[in-house]
Formats: sequence, structure tokens, C-alpha cells
Amino acid sequence: MAGRLTLPGFVNAHSHAFQRALRGRVDGGDFWAWRDAMLDVARGQSPERVRKDYVAVYREMLAAGFTAVGEFHYLGLDQAYAASEAAAEAGIRFVLLHVAYARGGIDELRQPTVDAYLQEVGALRHDGVAVGVAPHSVRACPPDWLEAVGAYAAEHELPLHVHACEQLREIDECLAEHGLRPIELLARTGCLGPRTTVIHATHASDAELDLLADRRARICVCPTTEASLGDGFVPVDRIRARGIRLCVGSDSNVRIDPLEELRELEGIARRLELRRGVIDVDELLRIGSVEGAAALGLDAWGDVTADLEHPSLAGVEPDEARAALVFGCGAEVLTPV
Ligand SMILES: [Zn+2]
Repeated sequence: MAGRLTLPGFVNAHSHAFQRALRGRVDGGDFWAWRDAMLDVARGQSPERVRKDYVAVYREMLAAGFTAVGEFHYLGLDQAYAASEAAAEAGIRFVLLHVAYARGGIDELRQPTVDAYLQEVGALRHDGVAVGVAPHSVRACPPDWLEAVGAYAAEHELPLHVHACEQLREIDECLAEHGLRPIELLARTGCLGPRTTVIHATHASDAELDLLADRRARICVCPTTEASLGDGFVPVDRIRARGIRLCVGSDSNVRIDPLEELRELEGIARRLELRRGVIDVDELLRIGSVEGAAALGLDAWGDVTADLEHPSLAGVEPDEARAALVFGCGAEVLTPV
């Protein structure tokens, strides 16, 4: 197509669509204070509300060039079906990362037993929803839950996504309870393999990163959310030194822009390494698309085009268009095909 650059669509490997409602909350406090506000919003999510609000968020994602999304969902089974229906209405490729939640949080989030959780996963799969399993975190799931979910994922060859090492307090609590760091506990309980994606890994130790590399697991980084929540910097230098594969997610959806996530990722890498061009542009685009699809177990998703006549790209040399897209544009230059 003249004047347009066609690319594989971007894949949002980690989203909590309902958290879009919190994008204007800038009051102080830390991650934990934000989490209290987030749980208040989570409490009010009826299936009808999810169905309605998620269509709008998924339309925003699609308009921003995300043609597939992995929804990390912990609002209940009826709401899971509602999210799937919302994605179908919006026209975005959808994988439900159905969350196991044993303890903490609020009542609505938790399943009574891990068997009850796995029955929910079975029902969703039976009804044709594309599903991955998602023990929420080592905070929310004790070892016996992690073992059961890890075994189920291995048996059925499903993606397994889990938050880990986002916050220092989470690591301290895990060490106090288990004598292990979060990613070490995931390895011990059979949750770390080639279909595993660890979300964040912001404060992962060298030993934990070695484990991820060893088990060929991925990391999903969510730079705009990690910045918003004051999580810290993803250790992209230590991750890349080990050859660990990366993908990106819009997570809390404070921003919905795949180019911004990739630019932030490379910006962190440059700040850490004090040089330019750390991650090659083609590799950044692959992290934003193919790698996210692999993390979700997807083999097909829509393409996007970038408008080369858009003021953000007009006049750029053809061989610099892909770099200008990542470093000089917002998602408004992208259109799903
Ligand atoms: Zn998350």
C-alpha cells in the first residue's frame, strides 16, 4: 500500500482492562496505596459493567495498534465470559489469562480451592475461550496451588503467566515465608518452563534471571505502568545478557500505546548502559508483536499499518521509517488492517 508501512500487529501480553478507570488517580503513596484504590474498583465489577467498559478499552487498544490482548483476569468467572464477549465485539484477538487467587485481596477475587479454580479453567476451555492459567503471584498463591496450576499447564500445554518480583516487599515476604525468592519458588513448584511468562521481574536477582534463562521462560515488561507505580527499572541489561525473551504489556492501562512501551523499554536500556541503540529496532518491533503472541500461545493475529504521510512520519527517509515509528511517533499513526 503506497504511503503506508505494514507490520505485524502489536500484541498486548498483559492487561487489566478495568484499571483503565484509575488513570487519573495521581495522589501520593506507593504501589500498595494504589493497590488499595485498585481493589476498591475491582469490587464493583459486575459482568454487565465488564462487558460494557471492556469493549471501550479494547477498542482503544485496537485503535492504538494492539491487535491481540492477554487479559490477566481476576474478577470472577462470569466476568471472564463478559471480557471475552467484549473482546469479540471490539474485534481484538483475545486470550484470557484466568487468575488463581487463594488468599489476600478481596473476597470476590478468590476461589475456595485450587480444584474449583481448575474447574473454572476447564469450563472456559470447554466453551471455546482461549485460555492461559495465571497464578496471580506468590503472595496470592501458596505452594500447593502453584504446584497444581503448574502441573495443569504442563499437562494441557497452556501458557502460564504470573506476576513476580514487581515490589521489594513481595520478595521480603516470600523469603520470610519460604526461604526462597519468588522466581525460585516458581521454579520449585513446577511453574517455570518455556510456556511461562513472568510479569515484571523488576527486582529479580541474578540467580532468578539465571533460572528464567535456564527454563527458557519469558519476561513481560510493562514500562509505562512500572513507571506509574514507582516499581523501579526493569533490569534489561541483565535480562538481555542472558538471552531471556521479552514481550510488553499495557498492564494498568494508564497509557495504551505499544510504541510508547517499546520506547520506554529502550530508554531504560540506554539509561542503564549509557549508550544509544541498545536494542535493535527490528528486535523492538518483534518484542512488541511476535514475542507477545508467542507468550500468549497465539499463531495468528491481525496486522497494522503506519501512515507514512502522518506529520509524525512525513519526510522521514524510507530506511529510517521503522526507527522513526518507534522513537518519534505515538500510536495515532497506526491503524489495524
Ligand atoms: Zn498486572
